[in-house]
Amino acid sequence: MFESFDAVIVGGGHNGLIAACYLAKAGKRVAVLEKNSEFGGATASVYAFSGVSAKLSRYSYLVALLPDQIIADLNLNFKTLSRKVSSYTPHSKSGILINRIFDDESRSSISKFTGISHEADAWQKFYNRIVEFAEKVAPTMLRPLPTESEIREMVGEELWQELVVQPLSETLNKYFSNDVVKGIVLTDGLIGTFASAAERAASICFLYHLIGNGNGEWKVPVGGMGILVNELLALAKSLGITLLPNSNIQKIVDSGEHVIVETDSNNFQASVVIAGCSPHELAKLIGDQPPKSLDGSQLKMNMVLTKLPRLRSGIDPKVAFSGTLHIDESYQQLEAAFEAAKVGQVPSVIPAEMYCHTLTDPSILSDELREAGFHTLTVFALHTPASLFDRNHDESKSLVSARVLAGLNKYLIDPIESCLAVDATGKPCVEIKTPQELEREIGLPRGNIFHGDLEFPWKTNDDPRKWGVETKSPRIFIGGAGAVRGGGVSGIGGHNAAMAALERLTEIK
Ligand SMILES: Cc1cc2nc3c(=O)[nH]c(=O)nc-3n(C[C@H](O)[C@H](O)[C@H](O)COP(=O)(O)OP(=O)(O)OC[C@H]3O[C@@H](n4cnc5c(N)ncnc54)[C@H](O)[C@@H]3O)c2cc1C
Repeated sequence: MFESFDAVIVGGGHNGLIAACYLAKAGKRVAVLEKNSEFGGATASVYAFSGVSAKLSRYSYLVALLPDQIIADLNLNFKTLSRKVSSYTPHSKSGILINRIFDDESRSSISKFTGISHEADAWQKFYNRIVEFAEKVAPTMLRPLPTESEIREMVGEELWQELVVQPLSETLNKYFSNDVVKGIVLTDGLIGTFASAAERAASICFLYHLIGNGNGEWKVPVGGMGILVNELLALAKSLGITLLPNSNIQKIVDSGEHVIVETDSNNFQASVVIAGCSPHELAKLIGDQPPKSLDGSQLKMNMVLTKLPRLRSGIDPKVAFSGTLHIDESYQQLEAAFEAAKVGQVPSVIPAEMYCHTLTDPSILSDELREAGFHTLTVFALHTPASLFDRNHDESKSLVSARVLAGLNKYLIDPIESCLAVDATGKPCVEIKTPQELEREIGLPRGNIFHGDLEFPWKTNDDPRKWGVETKSPRIFIGGAGAVRGGGVSGIGGHNAAMAALERLTEIK
């Protein structure tokens, strides 16, 4: 005997839970099977250090891609806060400060740093162009997948050429003259993506990072990313969804009449299945060839600090750390790091970026830590692909970590090590995750934070897929980050898979 459902969701990351909630709201019987003991996948918040009451967003930490419509549809109490500072980039004894609202301070910071009078104008012009693009594309994300021709027509030929056809390297060189400015812009094309600025993968990742909700603003989730999961779990329970943690799915078989889902200990029958896990994992479960995709390419560090370090450039640390702090991310440095990592060498200078959650939202700290002036710091190192850690994992991890911290320390008066809090056992509060560790813990294939290669959020004109979530089986859908528009914390994969599944359930009734 199988327990039977209209829909079984494979994996209880945020996308899987969002898909489940849309289906249950439409009256369907749904089960979510998660292999770990906790739901949430890459959107978990945890007390990472024993005896230290700081609840860190362990993996993902900022939100831009999650459409307001999903929050409203599901009536989630999930709030995000704007950061006053967009980014600060120290360089020697000065730096570039860019506020979220591009104001006189940002303008004069760029001009003073670069000594180029038109560089700030170029910045403003470029980002106005991006907003033009984003405002048109963002509203399509929860609708059936548009075609390339439709989007091209919508955004106009000039924007299409600049942002889609031309390599990002060319567009950046056309707008900007300064190496550091170009690098700051380029980083959005390299988050979790191992590519040169000239490669298509960088252009796709770049657009992805700038179109969220039509403005591309990256905001801080109040209470940490885990609040999204808590809200979804509470809704799932109230909708009567069957939530089954510790259910490691081993096999999925589409019999033509229904789908059988087998875990270590139970079998389930479903009319449709939504894979909230990666397409790579789905392929293994159905006995298919896994798709090829880029290695995950980041080293993630979480820290708790007793104080914010002072910077050599003299900027107030509360300003420098409240936006994204870019370390060694000039265009040349990014390209050099890519070239080194591509041939298996740990880059001598590792570009990294970081931000302090607690400067915008201190609610993740206990009153005691808040009053004592503690802060959290999240570091995301670029161009550190999984392949760098394949041999001698632990030594490579130590080497990369040491280089990232040394890179940061170049710009600090107080070395970061002197600012680390210690846990109940006296160990410094720093947690480091390589791509391999991300794969082991939450199943990201080769640590790829997007479950696979990102694609432009449209399809070729002859692509028969309606939502970008379809598979070879008419009863199985991809509802996680690996869906065509699914990457990041967005819920878009989950929403779109639920829409496709509801249509199929109506057809097969
Ligand atoms: C270090 C890091 C930093 C990031 N930073 C950001 C950020 O700041 N902002 C942002 O938008 N995005 C960020 N991302 C990306 C983002 O977190 C992910 O793309 C997104 O959370 C994926 O969500 P998901 O629900 O699709 O899948 P996941 O969160 O990966 O969930 C999939 C779930 O499926 C489960 N599963 C897998 N296989 C099986 C199986 N066989 N049986 C049962 N269950 C299974 C897994 O355990 C997991 O819980 C980051 C990711 C990482 C790792």
